[in-house]
Amino acid sequence: MSFSNLGLNAELLSAIADQGYSAPTDIQTRAIPTILAGHDILAGAQTGTGKTAAFTLPLLQRLSAAKPASRHIRVLMVAPTRELAQQVADSVRTYGRHLQLRSTVVYGGMPIGKQIKQLKEGVDVLIATPGRLLDLVNRRSVDLSHVESVVLDEADRMLDMGFLPAIEQIFKLIPAERQTLLLSATFSDAIKKMSARFLNKPEYIQVAEANSASLNIDQSFYWVDSPRKRELLSHMIDGGDWQQLLVFTRTKRGADRLAKQLQADGVTATAIHGDKTQNARTRALRDFKHNKVTALIATDVAARGLDIDHLPLVINFELPDNPEDYLHRIGRTGRGGKAGTAISLVGSDERGRVSSIQRLLKTKIPGKTMTGFEPAGGVREIRDDARPRGKQPMGAKRGAPAQPNRNKRRSSGRAQNRHT
Ligand code: AMP
Repeated sequence: MSFSNLGLNAELLSAIADQGYSAPTDIQTRAIPTILAGHDILAGAQTGTGKTAAFTLPLLQRLSAAKPASRHIRVLMVAPTRELAQQVADSVRTYGRHLQLRSTVVYGGMPIGKQIKQLKEGVDVLIATPGRLLDLVNRRSVDLSHVESVVLDEADRMLDMGFLPAIEQIFKLIPAERQTLLLSATFSDAIKKMSARFLNKPEYIQVAEANSASLNIDQSFYWVDSPRKRELLSHMIDGGDWQQLLVFTRTKRGADRLAKQLQADGVTATAIHGDKTQNARTRALRDFKHNKVTALIATDVAARGLDIDHLPLVINFELPDNPEDYLHRIGRTGRGGKAGTAISLVGSDERGRVSSIQRLLKTKIPGKTMTGFEPAGGVREIRDDARPRGKQPMGAKRGAPAQPNRNKRRSSGRAQNRHT
């Protein structure tokens, strides 16, 4: 299958070629023709599947095919977080670079005046977070009455963040005759209900087994006494010569604390979370992308939707309460078909979380210890009903596990493979 078979026009094919994509991903193959035909879609796709291009490309094509005399918002894309909204907006700009369409992105934390000015000048595509969108609606700076297509990206996360009332309000402002695309990594009953309410005979597209991790990610757990996690992480960064790693902590304070401690250990590290100003978050992300910062320490909400090209490594400094957050976290690596590594540092008090994650993934993840950092109380076996390793979910890619910066790897500290 190639992009040219999907019915996309020359301008879009040229933008795709500029990106160097050789073939459409699964979701692109299935969603693009359906969206071009004007149908609604309910898509189960996680980040890393190419979902953004899957809805952006056909919507841009539909927009460019018919141009009304005056400019109105005809496509609305709603995303739960600022970072995701910004990334969707970047994709719209990238894929639409050869088209004469205007787009803008609005989210909280940025001065509203500039956004109002841009909206006044007229845009075809608006990308927004729900709160800021309603704020602009209340100020009469946004008119949604000409919207033809609406996208709800990461709808499950929107529900988790309490945006359902906002979404309901937004739909009241959009014509009933419209195309609606709903994307979600998971399918809870709440998502099914939402789909029944807002979508019209949607085509259901599921590209990866629900709740299965992107399987080009090499996952492992390191058992360690919790107070020694920071020391172990510094040791791994040094020993692995890691240049770029995204580290997850459970709390904002924990993120700040870890960033400071790593800095004291000589690692360039910065924290990104909801208490930071938008400017600070943007700067941190830019420095990280440009390799000025080795370790980006993030909380789950802040990291939502981060799209960093070729991010080789995700570290869970602490495991999340919710096993689905583990999936979201490790989904930051192994994107676009590239190999990635996810390492979790696990204290004995997190055994229950390991079990939940393995149950969700239906996979046993190898547990290891690092020489010199073995837990004082030893490692107890985890008993659960996870399938044995080697029988991975459908579509699993086998092969050599990825290693970050394999060429530069120095070996300080040997990992022992002790299966738990
Ligand atoms: P997404 O799932 O939308 O977050 O996209 C994940 C990553 O895949 C992004 O960095 C895209 O640039 C990349 N991508 C999207 N479509 C393709 C494709 N057909 N081939 C290779 N990479 C792609």
